Amino acid sequence: MASLGYDDTPILPYGKYRVHDSARPQPRVITPAGPSTQEAPGTPPSDAVVLFDGKDLSGWISAKTGDAAGWKVENGYMEVVPGTGNIRTKEQFGDCQLHIEWAAPVVVKGESQGRGNSGVFLMGRYEIQVLDCYNNPTYADGTAAGIYGQYPPLVNASRKPGEWQTYDIIWEAPRFADGKIARPARVTVIWNGVVVHHATKLIGPTTHRQVLPWVEHPPVGPLELQDHGDLVRYRNIWYRPLKEYDQP
Ligand code: MG
Repeated sequence: MASLGYDDTPILPYGKYRVHDSARPQPRVITPAGPSTQEAPGTPPSDAVVLFDGKDLSGWISAKTGDAAGWKVENGYMEVVPGTGNIRTKEQFGDCQLHIEWAAPVVVKGESQGRGNSGVFLMGRYEIQVLDCYNNPTYADGTAAGIYGQYPPLVNASRKPGEWQTYDIIWEAPRFADGKIARPARVTVIWNGVVVHHATKLIGPTTHRQVLPWVEHPPVGPLELQDHGDLVRYRNIWYRPLKEYDQP
């Protein structure tokens, strides 16, 4: 077979391969994600790790007790059972592409932080807010898709209560060295197809009414979902581990 590339081109500045290098490995072939609609969730890409497929909570535990997760599963989604507490995955992971779909309660009640509140906690520590923000003002860094208590989303891309919404999150875990922060966590969030954070650097772990310093933790952690007392639903949850490019 004729060479697909070149062997006489300059070496790329990051080393190892030439421009259009014949010997450079091909990207792995995968089946891409199938699109979600309001009627049905899409399909995960073929190389994704599925965290919730709509059938059961066997991959999830109570964040507080480690016992079985207390939320209910019906019609292909899970729903918060208020008072049962946050739930988290048994799976632990770090840098990733995370896909998750959620819907605020159909019956609108409460206001501000009291309306359709839940949350997606990356590594069990860093919250991307889930809130019914359709005609529901609240403090900006606590709106849906906000990095809670740190950064509001760039825009409010809310769908109506009861409609399925998507977060596609690219997460880079914080790096620690000698017990200190060496590189803050960074997150990109695409909400219903709209970029609302772009490689935004976190300032520390999530809290309420405070600023907390970074505290060293393992390079992997669970995905945690918040019971804030509202009947928020989730479906089609998966992630793909992210590998850094081969560059200095
Ligand atoms: Mg929340």
